[in-house]
Amino acid sequence: MTTYAFPPPVQPSVPVEGSEAAFPVRRVLCVGRNYAAHRAEMGGDERDPPFFFAKPADAIAPLMNDVPYPPRTTDLHHEIELVVALKSGGADIAVDDALDHVFGYAVGVDLTRRDLQGAAKAKGQPWEAGKAFDFSAPISAIRPVADATLDGAIWLTVNGVQRQTGLVSDMIWNIPEIIAEASKLWTLAAGDLIFTGTPEGVSAVVRGDQIAGEVDGVGALAFTLV
Ligand code: MN
Repeated sequence: MTTYAFPPPVQPSVPVEGSEAAFPVRRVLCVGRNYAAHRAEMGGDERDPPFFFAKPADAIAPLMNDVPYPPRTTDLHHEIELVVALKSGGADIAVDDALDHVFGYAVGVDLTRRDLQGAAKAKGQPWEAGKAFDFSAPISAIRPVADATLDGAIWLTVNGVQRQTGLVSDMIWNIPEIIAEASKLWTLAAGDLIFTGTPEGVSAVVRGDQIAGEVDGVGALAFTLV
């Protein structure tokens, strides 16, 4: 048995609806530009294939009422996203088999330091400073697949005003295709979360803003930036 030089970090986890057992998070993958209208507002070409980036597992902020406004930005953006939680994985998963690996779904916000992301894009540098910071992934409880439905709307409000709205069915690459594509690049496993992209309407938020998001049939989350 391994002994450690100091106590190992706490395992990040997300509560599961209707269960005492939490979902242990292994990795967090995110899909970029998976809704056509958001791709257009970010200046993308509709024919570009979707792409992936990652956040560290401990960037998740599960059921947090108060989320700290991150340092070194003056342009923090919200991106409401449907999150897929995996109970198993593998490499080169077939599209037809992909949903067999899904444990459940959650509602997440891909918080983005858009100014730092933009600077990185301009210099051809990596996105971690813009995307993978502490508390950058607020997330609801996970709803097990048997209790979830995915044929509805996804939206986000700031201080009660609607900022983002779309339909889950608007995704350019659907959930089985996302899982299959990700598994071509990484061996997926139980505990992986995949943020599936955001509809249009991303915008800046400031300290004190109350952010609420919902995906029909999956759940809701709400938090204040402090
Ligand atoms: Mn995103």
